[in-house]
Amino acid sequence: MRYLLFAICLSLVTTTLEAQKISPQEILNRLDQRSAAYGTLAHTIWEYAEVGYQEEKSSALLQEKLRAAGFSVEAGVADIPTAFVASYGSGKPVIGLLAEFDALPGVSQEAVPEPRPRPGSSAGHACGHHLFGAASTAAAISLKEWLEANGGSGTIKLFGTPAEEGGAGKVYMVRAGLFDEVDAVIQWHPSDGNSADAGTSLSNKSAKFRFYGAASHAAAAPESGRSALDGVEAMNYMVNLMREHVPESTRIHYVITSGGEAPNVVPAFAEVFYYVRHPQMRDVRSIFERVVKAAEGAALGTGTTMEYEVIHGSFNLMPNETLARVMHANLEKVGGITYDPEEQAFAEAIVETLPEARRKPLTSAGEVQGFRMPEKAYPASTDVGDVSWTVPTAGLRTATWVPGTPPHSWQAVAAGGTSIGTKGMMVAAKTLTLTGIDLFTNPELCTRAQQELNRRRGADFKYEALLGDREPPLDYRN
Ligand SMILES: [Zn+2]
Ligand SMILES: [Zn+2]
Repeated sequence: MRYLLFAICLSLVTTTLEAQKISPQEILNRLDQRSAAYGTLAHTIWEYAEVGYQEEKSSALLQEKLRAAGFSVEAGVADIPTAFVASYGSGKPVIGLLAEFDALPGVSQEAVPEPRPRPGSSAGHACGHHLFGAASTAAAISLKEWLEANGGSGTIKLFGTPAEEGGAGKVYMVRAGLFDEVDAVIQWHPSDGNSADAGTSLSNKSAKFRFYGAASHAAAAPESGRSALDGVEAMNYMVNLMREHVPESTRIHYVITSGGEAPNVVPAFAEVFYYVRHPQMRDVRSIFERVVKAAEGAALGTGTTMEYEVIHGSFNLMPNETLARVMHANLEKVGGITYDPEEQAFAEAIVETLPEARRKPLTSAGEVQGFRMPEKAYPASTDVGDVSWTVPTAGLRTATWVPGTPPHSWQAVAAGGTSIGTKGMMVAAKTLTLTGIDLFTNPELCTRAQQELNRRRGADFKYEALLGDREPPLDYRN
């Protein structure tokens, strides 16, 4: 009889526990119910429109949401006041999510389908990072609820990553070792379509080369002067000759940021700002060294002195097919978005402002592109690159912008400030959540993803940031 009672009690406890478990579908339903609240969260950050390393309010708002949901938050990590790590759970696997929130200077725009700067703001979310941060936060909270209800081992770490746009925030966070214990990173980016390719990007290293000469009267005493601008011009000439002797996929661009003040004064100071890009981080490293040699040669030949400051550096994105296929399968389950009549009218008006060649059918926002592993690198750079060489990483893009919209445009700011942005963002939140659930349910995926990363980056790989030991440029947007 005692045994029977015990058995009945046990079965009651088990049934209660099982009743508390949450299915992935229930988690998605909850996300639907909260979509307006997460839309408001994103829109608040859209209105703040804070640029790189100045995202005090945006970062604080996301931290507050995560704390309220039961995460412990460590703020000011990697010597960056607006960087943070929000953690929940314990044990393996450790799943990381990235959350960006910086805006771009010079693209202030209202949420209307015609160019109209927003009064009182010179910056705007033209890359959609307000959605990026909000959707990743939504996914982290959903994953936490799932983990809490379903039990088992696992840790969620949401990385609040400032200054993606030219500030390389994530590189400093990787360099500080914040990703060392993470088993997989899932992330996303706003876009004009829905896809989860295992694509790659260009690695990039930039520096400012400063030449110092001697000022003198350009007509009365030119022999006493040494032109710092000559140093810059000689360097540029040599680098331009070098273009013939670098791999074809190299991109080198520069602007002269200081070239003297007046033609009748031999310039004592001149500065040129260089970017070196290539699909492979190792090539960027070696080509950059040759650019430095050109600068040294230019200084020698013009009787000037030269010093340079590395401004930023990021690795190319390392694709991970194992994780990308899981992400893609989940994106297909979630599907794209459809517009209500108001959104349709907004989207049609935006299309009218796009160049003919960029226009795409609006229905493409409802489609999910087939899985690809593009050989050609996407012709841009991101600081997610360094994360992806350190931890197996997969990402997706969703239709937060009207199809055909280029990133960094006023059209992107506009759509990102409407319910179109919210709908696209929720596709990302759901896909990230489902992918996180898959990784917690089947940690073997993390093992396979790590094996793939080891194979791709080579046995001798040791992380060394392209930007060396420089400090985060916290004032780069001042
Ligand atoms: Zn951008
Ligand atoms: Zn971006």
